[in-house]
Amino acid sequence: MNLFLDRHKTLLPRIDLIYLLTRVMTLVGIVWFTMSGRYPASHEPLFYAIVVTFSLHLLVFYAAIKGKFDQKLAYLSSIIYDLFLLPALVLNTGGLHSPFYLLFYLTISVAAYVLTSRFVALVTLVATGGYLLAVNLDLSTGHFFDVSIKIGFVLAYCMAITYASDYLRRSEKRLLKLFNTLNLRTSELEKSQAQLEMIYENTRALASILDTDGVVREVVNIMGDVLQHKCFALIFRDRWGNFYYRARFENGRRNFHLKAIDIDGMELVRKVCDAGEAVRVKDIVGRDDYLPLGDDARSAVLLPLISHGIIRGVLTAESTRTDHFQEKDVRMLSIVARSAALALENAELHKRTEELTVIDELTETYNYRYFVEKLEEEKRRAIRYDLPLSLIMVDIDWFKKLNDTYGHEVGNVVLRSLSAIIKKCIRDVDIFTRYGGEEFAIILPQTPQVEASRIGERIRAQIEATRIDAGKAGKVKVTVSVGVSAFPENGKSHEELVSVTDQALYRAKGKGRNVVCII
Ligand code: GH3
Ligand code: MG
Ligand code: MG
Repeated sequence: MNLFLDRHKTLLPRIDLIYLLTRVMTLVGIVWFTMSGRYPASHEPLFYAIVVTFSLHLLVFYAAIKGKFDQKLAYLSSIIYDLFLLPALVLNTGGLHSPFYLLFYLTISVAAYVLTSRFVALVTLVATGGYLLAVNLDLSTGHFFDVSIKIGFVLAYCMAITYASDYLRRSEKRLLKLFNTLNLRTSELEKSQAQLEMIYENTRALASILDTDGVVREVVNIMGDVLQHKCFALIFRDRWGNFYYRARFENGRRNFHLKAIDIDGMELVRKVCDAGEAVRVKDIVGRDDYLPLGDDARSAVLLPLISHGIIRGVLTAESTRTDHFQEKDVRMLSIVARSAALALENAELHKRTEELTVIDELTETYNYRYFVEKLEEEKRRAIRYDLPLSLIMVDIDWFKKLNDTYGHEVGNVVLRSLSAIIKKCIRDVDIFTRYGGEEFAIILPQTPQVEASRIGERIRAQIEATRIDAGKAGKVKVTVSVGVSAFPENGKSHEELVSVTDQALYRAKGKGRNVVCII
């Protein structure tokens, strides 16, 4: 419902129409009076002159209504015209008993509608003066008391009309203000409702997203497209406690970036993370505990991302206006923050569950299942983009002996330490897995065989050079044998490739161990 009232459709009747009506009535009155022949014959030219000037005046006024002249000036000129006209009419049509005497009331009424009280008083004063002048010339009749009563009537009428029209104007203003406020509230409510509906839709979508990237993208959507925030950030903790943030600045460009940040310098962010309560910054200028994202930021709001009682980060929004964020904004943003926190937790849980099925618990590396999946995937990628691909297999030498000498527990420590050493020898893109027992497999995308055997050698040498701390067993020294193969030259299917690498490894064992062999 829209309560907006057009500024021109006020509650008071339209002034120009009333005024035009009174003009027409006056004209009709003059014409009727002229036709009835109730005036001395010597006044005839005067009446015709009045009729003509009055008609002209009516035309001018009509043109003013149509916008050809300034309307206010037309009103003013009309009233001034009346001031000359009325005394002349009264004087020439019987003085105190003139039928045009009533026109005084009409003039004052219209003046009260059109002009302010001060003008009405002035008009009345001049009209009364004119009237007095007109009547005084007729005072020879001796009706002084009659004159006084009529002047009193005019003045009292003027005051009543002025008061009534002022009261009406004030009431109308108040009513208009009320309507405007109501209208504003209604549109605000409508906007909030629409926003809430959209937030509801979007947060429902959030609940079904299972990856962190997707969650962040959806939150950016809600913050930017639904809530129209131009500058905001989503700062959240991963399971290792590192903080990451994504921000978006509008001004025609979307800025997604996920990067690790240190929140030590961001005192307020830390405070919200610790206390778990929303904070409004009414004026950013001069505050050193808040680092604004936007250059022209003036106020900000920070909301904790809480799910299942755990604070996972902070959602911040900025505005270029001081003290922009009100209670209702905080409430609205809290809905987003709550849903975002839940969705981030969901995504994290999902990732963990997925990882658990492919992670080897002892060495915390990927397991055989993941190895098979990834080798197939990388093989397909190598074919599609015509890229080299290599495979390295590492087997610990005389591991059974080590187990027998120091015990299974020490063997486990060695397995963990070796996987950590190998991880340091390879790139992030390489896929390191525990193939089984004391054997490791490394898939090296975009790597030719020569480069792979160089990496294999690096691993072998690094392990040979390291004395592993095995607790009560002291420092343990182990070596590994390494087999290297490449796709597609050494094998077309992944089974073939694994078997060839195994053969290379076998050859390395045959060569006396602690060596790297290619097929
Ligand atoms: P080679 O140099 O020929 O490889 O000799 P090796 O003793 O390493 O021979 P093999 O590969 O046959 O022995 C594998 C041994 O690894 C057998 C098993 O006791 C040990 N092993 C396999 N898995 C684990 C494990 O999870 N923990 C421990 N401690 N030992 C394991
Ligand atoms: Mg083995
Ligand atoms: Mg072995």
